Amino acid sequence: MTAFDKQGPRTGPSTDNVHADRRFGVEHGAIHKPIHTSVQYGFERVEDLIGVFQGTVKGGYNYARQGTPTTAALEAKLTQLEQGLGTISFATGMAAISAVFLTLLRKGDHIISSRYVFGNTNSLLGTLEDLGVEVSKVDAGSASAVEAALRPNTRMVFVETVANPGTQVPDLVGIGALCQARGLVYVVDNTITSPALFLPRSVGASLVINSLTKTIAGHGDALGGAVTDTGLFDWQAFPNIFAAYRKGDARQWGLQQIRKKGLRDMGGTLSSDAAHRISVGAETLPLRVRQASATALALAGWLQAHPKVAAVHYPGLESHPHHARAAELFKAGSWLLSFELRDPADLVQVLNRLQLPIKATGLGDTRTLIIPVAPTIFWEAGPAVRAEMGIADGLIRLSVGLEDEADLIADFAQALG
Ligand SMILES: *Cc1c(COP(=O)(O)O)cnc(C)c1O
Repeated sequence: MTAFDKQGPRTGPSTDNVHADRRFGVEHGAIHKPIHTSVQYGFERVEDLIGVFQGTVKGGYNYARQGTPTTAALEAKLTQLEQGLGTISFATGMAAISAVFLTLLRKGDHIISSRYVFGNTNSLLGTLEDLGVEVSKVDAGSASAVEAALRPNTRMVFVETVANPGTQVPDLVGIGALCQARGLVYVVDNTITSPALFLPRSVGASLVINSLTKTIAGHGDALGGAVTDTGLFDWQAFPNIFAAYRKGDARQWGLQQIRKKGLRDMGGTLSSDAAHRISVGAETLPLRVRQASATALALAGWLQAHPKVAAVHYPGLESHPHHARAAELFKAGSWLLSFELRDPADLVQVLNRLQLPIKATGLGDTRTLIIPVAPTIFWEAGPAVRAEMGIADGLIRLSVGLEDEADLIADFAQALG
């Protein structure tokens, strides 16, 4: 038992973050959690093997597709960071999102999603429709748009805290109140803000998604995703929990079903190696997010004043339509921004002149990454979806890294000419 035992007093989020691994006991006094590569887990007594299968022995392992001590340590850290009830890790953010949709929604159900979501999530919503789930996409900037889309069979609402690449911020508080009043599962994708800037449980989220690949791992060297249950949703009132999982503590029913039907059966398991990298990366999460957000704010302000830039989309700017909301809810405007050139014909030349930002897709790296949106990540979506999502041909997305602010601004100054 140490001061950081899981029953111990609550510490600050940065302290939680660096010590969470140790709360479940440390092998051989190792300061950092070892990487457990074993796929199978054996037992002295067959009663314990049976108990792990039947869920009566807590914290036991049987087969690594359902988790290892290394993924469990990361899950405990994420639960601390999100101040939740429990977390399930996955191989990618998309594996986490698909597990939530496919295990909690059934044919004939209805989901309302923000229209401004990650492109692959948008594509996945199309797959759900093919499977017989009704999908409505709304401008979630106001809760009344979500309310107007409600149907008797609505079960879930899905939003992202800051939309990529447009940076719209939904009416997170209003939608939370609506979901609570109607008994809807409120799923908030916290990837862009991360728990360093925002806790979705503060607006009543039921489930929080994080693509760990982005700023939580933070170094572009591991893929991962997670679902955290905030403990706020009443699973007893939710009709889609199978009889097999309506057992024991009702607060665990949602996670139980996602772990069995989503992780175990669908198999998008996070490897222990990736979990270890993500855990190490996450230790500096608050520091990195603070610095990258400050740089993003400075760069956004500088770009906005440049004559060749038509528009800058960044929630930290006062000119952003959702600035007041972002300032109230988030500790900073995040490291994601996008901007439009006045003349889209300059796009290729300006991007090729940049020396520091790396021309690449991806988000939340230590290096600044830059990409023209329409011809790349939103190419498959086609012009109609791009128009619906407000993605202009000259839109450029920037994931701000940890370079010195002055160097980035100097590079943009020479590239814009
Ligand atoms: C990247 C991203 C995802 C998907 O995460 P992967 O780890 O790449 O599968 C989901 N949501 C948002 C907001 C993202 O930026």
